Amino acid sequence: MAKPARVRTIAPPRGSIVTKALSAIRSVKGTRDLLPSETPLWQRVEEEARRVFDAYNFREIRTPVLERTDLFARSVGADTDIVTKEMYTFQDRDEESLTLRPEATASVVRAYIEHRLFNEGGVHKLYYLGPMFRRERPQKGRYRQFYQIGAEVLGSDHPTIDAEVLEMLTFLLARLGLREFSLLINSVGCGKCRPTYVEVLREALQGVKSQLCADCQRRAETNPLRVLDCKVEADQAQIARLPRIVDYLCADCRKHFDGVEAELAQRGVAYEINPRLVRGLDYYTRTTFEITSSGLGAQNALLGGGRYDGLSEMLGGPSSPGFGFAIGQDRLMLAVEHAGNLKGENSIAAYVAWLGDGAFRPAAELARGLRQQGWRVEIGYEPVKLSKSLSVANKLHARYAIIIGEGELASGRYQIKDMGTGRQEEVEPARVPAYLKEKLGTGPV
Ligand code: AMP
Repeated sequence: MAKPARVRTIAPPRGSIVTKALSAIRSVKGTRDLLPSETPLWQRVEEEARRVFDAYNFREIRTPVLERTDLFARSVGADTDIVTKEMYTFQDRDEESLTLRPEATASVVRAYIEHRLFNEGGVHKLYYLGPMFRRERPQKGRYRQFYQIGAEVLGSDHPTIDAEVLEMLTFLLARLGLREFSLLINSVGCGKCRPTYVEVLREALQGVKSQLCADCQRRAETNPLRVLDCKVEADQAQIARLPRIVDYLCADCRKHFDGVEAELAQRGVAYEINPRLVRGLDYYTRTTFEITSSGLGAQNALLGGGRYDGLSEMLGGPSSPGFGFAIGQDRLMLAVEHAGNLKGENSIAAYVAWLGDGAFRPAAELARGLRQQGWRVEIGYEPVKLSKSLSVANKLHARYAIIIGEGELASGRYQIKDMGTGRQEEVEPARVPAYLKEKLGTGPV
């Protein structure tokens, strides 16, 4: 049974004109706040992703969170779980049906068509980061507002594209300090060969569907491929015995899949073939893939993607093959924390501790100068004892405390205390930035 919601009340401050205690408003189920203790690692992961995308010559695209509902009905598929059960859809004031995007590939392809990027010719390599919305049952690693980091290549159906993107992904995960992950790949064929397979599958399902879950019994009629990604444990033995799509690929799809395998081998990218991997969106053609990571529990799919050669046409654009993926950033963060090889920057370079009214002005000037050069610096706002200042510096994880009191003003040399070792040195004000640079080994943030 669901736990009853905890209702907290917060008493109004004394002297407040509000006399009745109001109940506190809480965040919406399945959404969460990322607090300042967490965001440094999120930012670090995003920086690494941007760096890797940049190295592979991907450019960022930012599309709206709000799209017309049709965009997803047409691309993701009218019979998918996302479209039938999970979208946040509402009528706008002018009666138009709008949806909070459940994924971004459809939006990227819409933008590609709308702005006629295809006219520029060649291959377009795009990436995005941002929140997506699906009304799923919340649990660890699964939220109703979750974050994806994704990339798309539009304009070529060459197997090299698939392999290059998969190589980039394994490189990114390695840079994030992840070692234990598996790349699973499959091919779901194309408009030519998939219908034949779907008929074979439909036929095979007639014999066993009564032993499958209610959803699968429905899917066996409406969209048999979806049966393959059923997560119900009791169905798995039957599903494992169903015909495999890789045995029904047409010559072109077979050649493409062989090409991807050969390219992956050449690049030293390790993978396994999983013939059941069809993924939960209808637009995929040929290659589909997923990367799973141990240590994530039930929600072990870190990312997924594939090829979608017909999507542009489904959205009213020209023929323009595509390949892409989306990483679930919430799960990626769990994996990065679990691996423990990457740390977010929680410290500050220096805390300026001043003593006595006369020290405030020079202290504020030093802090301003350091900040304007980009150093992360904090300064006390009120005169307090040195011991209090140092304990604040400690709490803020300051690497150095710069102490400015009457003695320092008289000598023209500030005390700089290494908060790790406790060692202290005297430094002239003008030399402080150079001193920090030398000691911290990095420039300003
Ligand atoms: P998809 O867009 O369905 O191909 O999913 C790509 C990735 O996004 C998955 O492998 C998950 O890591 C992540 N993902 C999908 N749905 C959710 C969700 N509700 N909460 C958190 N992550 C999700």
